[in-house]
Amino acid sequence: MNNENRAIVAVVGRPNVGKSTIFNKLTGKKISIVEDTPGVTRDRIFGEVEWLNKYFTIIDTGGIEPESDDVIISQMRNQALLAIDMAHVILFIVDGKGGLTAADKEVAEILRKTNKPVILVVNKIDSMSQFDNIYDFYELGLGTPFAISGANSMGLGDLLDEVVLNFPEGVNTEYDEDIIRVAITGKPNAGKSSILNNILGEDRVIVSPIAGTTRDAIDTYFESGENKFLLIDTAGIRRKSKVYENVERFSVIRSMSAVDRADVVLIVIDATEGVTEQDTKIAGIAHDEGKGCVFVVNKWDLIEKDNKTMGNFKMSIREKFPFMSYAPIVFVSAVTNQRIKKILETVVEVSYEQNRRVTTSVLNEVIGEAVMLNQPPSDKGRRLKIYYGTQTGVKPPTFTLFINDIELTHFSYTRYLENRLRENFGFEGTSIKIEYKQKR
Ligand code: GDP
Ligand code: GDP
Repeated sequence: MNNENRAIVAVVGRPNVGKSTIFNKLTGKKISIVEDTPGVTRDRIFGEVEWLNKYFTIIDTGGIEPESDDVIISQMRNQALLAIDMAHVILFIVDGKGGLTAADKEVAEILRKTNKPVILVVNKIDSMSQFDNIYDFYELGLGTPFAISGANSMGLGDLLDEVVLNFPEGVNTEYDEDIIRVAITGKPNAGKSSILNNILGEDRVIVSPIAGTTRDAIDTYFESGENKFLLIDTAGIRRKSKVYENVERFSVIRSMSAVDRADVVLIVIDATEGVTEQDTKIAGIAHDEGKGCVFVVNKWDLIEKDNKTMGNFKMSIREKFPFMSYAPIVFVSAVTNQRIKKILETVVEVSYEQNRRVTTSVLNEVIGEAVMLNQPPSDKGRRLKIYYGTQTGVKPPTFTLFINDIELTHFSYTRYLENRLRENFGFEGTSIKIEYKQKR
């Protein structure tokens, strides 16, 4: 399928209507990403959902806990606009226990004007006796409300059926393993759009204009040589919407949602400004989620150079991201086109590395050698024993080591093992994971 217009569902609704509860039920996995992003208190804002072999991304646009009704209303307006902008289907959640509010009406008015499918969901209908509570919500003019109980997981299957039915034609709900999903992140003005345009200009074989209106374009799919790529969330990059460009939260949401869906994350750094706080945050998330990472230092044409400049710049990146020494650094200029080709070449290499498997026998040779060179830690006379290891996953390469006692493991030894694995196997550009299983 050439047109990789990935299905996206957005969740809109007042605080406390049950958005995160529903979200957690639908996505079913626990990741926590956000710790100290200003204004972002909720720990999950996007996730992948599979329903009857269809795949889509769900985005929770809410999240700040506002102090006053005014703030709630203006915030919900922003949520609704973001949802309209990004999503193919919008879930508008209201509270069947709390009843209809002014904020609900305001949002309904905005949502009624879009031609995107909106599903009105009345949550907290925990039992049949509460079913009558849904009638008030017809007033919103968004059709028949869907009654559910997020807390009790009631009605969610029907809701998912409805969501899937509502995806417009041309929206892709398939999962294609062969596509390398690439997120381009970086602060505004770092040169993301310029890089993107250069990549597409140079290497494009097929670029699919996304079905539907151009405003909906979120992902750009293209093929180059043997490879298929999906550049994620490029709408947010290319088109600067005045509506919320100044709301930093949305730029962070976009980046995080892009990172979540990506295999490889490009962190674009403006060479004239160096690493920013947002870069550090996004890189940390990409690392924690086991994504492939490439640092792209852009605007290299503007830097006065001698034979040490590049080395020094590399060193300063390594210092700022000590936990990501595996990530390649590429120096480019989107203006002179210098080394722009190198970006995709590196992405392909990283993608290869993150999908690579090593055989159990070779792995255990390496582990055995590592243990011989540097004894595992011991505590109170007992020493960590590694019986054997096996690779249990890719993206990122994940190794499970069977050991005598979890209590005896130590992060410094884990890091040592990781370094030995890298020395022997490479895995450039991807984090690797070592997990322990106790076996008696
Ligand atoms: P959010 O602010 O919209 O994300 O709402 P939360 O998911 O944090 O839920 C707000 C409160 O409503 C929490 O105390 C939930 O336990 C509760 N809640 C969520 N779903 C239901 C439901 O289906 N029934 C009932 N009775 N309570 C719910
Ligand atoms: P974005 O906000 O990250 O998408 O950044 P843009 O691609 O819109 O670029 C921001 C500004 O930096 C524009 O004026 C670009 O022309 C300029 N720019 C981007 N890349 C380069 C580069 O490699 N060298 C120079 N000199 N300017 C660049």
